[in-house]
Amino acid sequence: MASASVKVAVRVRPFNNRENERDSKSVIAMAGPTTTITGGAGQIHSFNYDYSYWSCNRSDAHFVNQKTVYEDLGVEMLEHAFQGYNVCIFAYGQTGAGKSYTMMGKPSDPEEMGIIPRLCKDLFTRCEENSSQTLKYSVEVSYLEIYCEKPRDLLNPNNTSNLRLREHPLMGPYLDELTKLVVCSYQDIYDLMDEGNKARTVAATNMNSTSSRSHAIFTIVLTQKRHDVETNMDTEKVSKISLVDLAGSERAGSTGAEGQRLKEGANINKSLTTLGLVISKLADESSKKKGKGTRATVVPYRDSMLTWLLRENLGGNSKTAMIAAISPADINFEETLSTLRYADRAKQIVCRAKINEDPNA
Ligand code: ADP
Ligand code: MG
Repeated sequence: MASASVKVAVRVRPFNNRENERDSKSVIAMAGPTTTITGGAGQIHSFNYDYSYWSCNRSDAHFVNQKTVYEDLGVEMLEHAFQGYNVCIFAYGQTGAGKSYTMMGKPSDPEEMGIIPRLCKDLFTRCEENSSQTLKYSVEVSYLEIYCEKPRDLLNPNNTSNLRLREHPLMGPYLDELTKLVVCSYQDIYDLMDEGNKARTVAATNMNSTSSRSHAIFTIVLTQKRHDVETNMDTEKVSKISLVDLAGSERAGSTGAEGQRLKEGANINKSLTTLGLVISKLADESSKKKGKGTRATVVPYRDSMLTWLLRENLGGNSKTAMIAAISPADINFEETLSTLRYADRAKQIVCRAKINEDPNA
């Protein structure tokens, strides 16, 4: 069993048109792993993370591109997956802050590809290089969206009725009837990713015309079957890789959302509010463990679909990383500060991952 804290990275994107038009100023500074945000009255809040990524302007010597983000976070998680651990990377932040850019980016563009396509590409390169008579890999993919607390199968958008949340004794919570497809090459997975991305629910708000109001979970299950010739034993390692692009973290009010939008906001916030609570409880728990004699905290995983599905990734059997995406602009000060605080709390979560190996498979 390997205990490790959730890895936390913060990434600041370039100014967008809206911010430029309003002539807004930067409130973010980064130095090494430290991110600071400066308020209107000059007060400075400072946070330390595993990584602070400056992706604000390409001309800057410290600019961090998609490749670097992947090499820091994606490569490590992929390595853990090959070791047999469950892994998870999730992106949190206000709408338009760069979550989808970081997770997915532009899969067709080698420079602008995000973590998901890069990880898929490397995964198949490794499978192809290492597979042999005694080592076989199989890869399965699913892609789902949670919209207003309801799951939607992005690989089969018409199939909404049968998705029921269930619990597997070893693999944990899962959705029954969710499409899982076997993929044999990067091209296969690329096609599915593309199909799923097109099926994602997008609704315009005045924050960002392509903002997504849903949580998207891209899951890869990697199975490694090894045959030991000397002992004539078969072993199987199974790892679940969960790559999560959360809905915007802003309160419904701050986007000027009304009516249907507001209702969506309330439901989206149910998953996000519960995620926040789960993170707080887990953070409390790990700080309490340092003391003695306290009772275990009840963690409200079951209060939302998102936290139920991600239960193992949050404080359970998983190696987990979080990327908090932020805007550099003063006009987003409040949201950005709240994202930085959220990320700060997530650092305290300790996960206990174990290798999922079955010696008699
Ligand atoms: P979110 O998914 O958080 O709502 P997006 O990822 O869609 O936000 O980003 C909003 C816009 O900002 C997109 O046009 C995206 O291409 C751009 N963007 C975000 N992050 C970066 C970055 N690090 N570098 C360049 N452009 C970015
Ligand atoms: Mg998005």
